[in-house]
Amino acid sequence: MPVRAPRLCACGHRVPSGARCPCEARRDAERKARFDKARPSASARGLGADWRRLRTDHLARNPWCCRCGRPAQEVDHIIPRREAPERRLDPTNLQSLCTPCHSGAKQREERLQHKGTVK
Ligand SMILES: [Zn+2]
Ligand SMILES: [Zn+2]
Repeated sequence: MPVRAPRLCACGHRVPSGARCPCEARRDAERKARFDKARPSASARGLGADWRRLRTDHLARNPWCCRCGRPAQEVDHIIPRREAPERRLDPTNLQSLCTPCHSGAKQREERLQHKGTVK
């Protein structure tokens, strides 16, 4: 098999066949860094460290589901974040729920919302 000749990169570098020029590798790294920076952080998505701390704290103090009394895994907003985003971190706006009650409540809420939009 004949050895392919090295190619000449746009930057003037002679690059062995099949290899990447250092300038291309650097461009790749820069693109990746930009991509990582563009990704929204956890706090930007509304799940910041303050919420996680509050949530853990609330579950520690209220370990039982407030609907059925089983062990709670979820912390729910009594007034939904959609309606009162400023009460997202208000400890008096939180309730502990078990996973089935939490998903049940959310589904009911969405059905109500759906009805409201149908009219
Ligand atoms: Zn190059
Ligand atoms: Zn429950």
